[in-house]
Amino acid sequence: MSDRIETDVVIVGAGPVGLFAVFELGLLDIRAHLVDILPKVGGQCAELYPEKPIYDIPGFPMVTGQGLIDNLMAQIEPFHPTFHLSEMVESLECLGTAEAPLFRLRTDAGTEFITKAVIIAAGGGSFQPKKPPIPGIEGFEGTSVFYAVRQMEPFRNKRILIVGGGDSALDWTVNLAPLAKRLTLLHRRDAFRAAPDTVNKMRALVAEGAMDFHLGQVVALEGTAPVLEAAVVRRDDGSTFTIPCDVMLPFFGLTMKLGPIAQWGLNLHENLIPVDTEKFETSVPGIFAIGDINTYPGKLKLILSGFHEGALAAQRVFHYVYPDKRLVFQYTTSSTSLQKKLGVH
Ligand code: FAD
Repeated sequence: MSDRIETDVVIVGAGPVGLFAVFELGLLDIRAHLVDILPKVGGQCAELYPEKPIYDIPGFPMVTGQGLIDNLMAQIEPFHPTFHLSEMVESLECLGTAEAPLFRLRTDAGTEFITKAVIIAAGGGSFQPKKPPIPGIEGFEGTSVFYAVRQMEPFRNKRILIVGGGDSALDWTVNLAPLAKRLTLLHRRDAFRAAPDTVNKMRALVAEGAMDFHLGQVVALEGTAPVLEAAVVRRDDGSTFTIPCDVMLPFFGLTMKLGPIAQWGLNLHENLIPVDTEKFETSVPGIFAIGDINTYPGKLKLILSGFHEGALAAQRVFHYVYPDKRLVFQYTTSSTSLQKKLGVH
């Protein structure tokens, strides 16, 4: 079923730059919805280096990746942005004119947006799962093979095979084991890149006989696609065995790909979106690109550059959202009207 949402702006990507754009838009009374393929906000900061220190955010001598995202979330809270997580924006269609832009965006979860402007803050592209090189796996995807868990209930009473040794593999092992008919975890080695506490919980479940753990790699799938019956596993010594299963969940990490943005009719340069440096608008009026995804002479892929780009893009978005209003420049320090919007006055 499709949900249809009308809004001022859709921001594609909830990384640090997309998040700060909400603040700059909010000061101008512009409502924003954010969509991200990840199940959490924060883009690269939260996904790739949550505990690493960043030293070049103005005003913060040191802040971790996750710390920066937590602060940005607190900063934009007064504007109540709506998040659509675990959804990928697949299509973007122009409905309006250059003077009065209007767009339709659709996500892979069936959400449809009608919006006056679009801000693409998609970083290096969408995070997508790394897929194991198993012949014919595509035929099982979406029915028996899943790279993410959106809801647990569909897995109830299923024979589940989880493959991998990182946090996602271990977290889902521990969470799905109680509702599975039988759960098996498969990993190449008896060593994990996951929180020690979760690894201990998994080992306790194995010791209780509540689940199985095997070493090896899946080399083939059995069944008539898309219905999976078993996975054929090869051990280090070359011997093979079979694990009966209804669903397989491979968790091999994420990679960044430009993804559907390449099909949106925008000018691209080496998988980046060229923009002007006055408004950070793309070749299509009403569509903006900020943060790591854009390119212009002198571009630095730094978070602070993305923050500046979002501020300038918001000024132009204002003219599309309120074509008859004049924009008055104000400081948050001294403007009571801005402070009211921030809930501090
Ligand atoms: P991202 O953080 O990449 O977020 C983009 C989001 O868009 C992602 O979550 C993605 O899933 C989503 N997305 C993309 N396409 C779609 C789609 N079609 N539908 C839905 N969602 C989509 N920068 C600094 O300034 N200082 C540093 O010290 C620093 N250290 C770094 C250390 C490491 C290890 C790394 C990897 C990067 C570092 N960076 C640093 C770079 C910084 O993280 C990036 O510049 C910043 O994350 C860019 O922010 P962004 O919001 O543009 O994109």
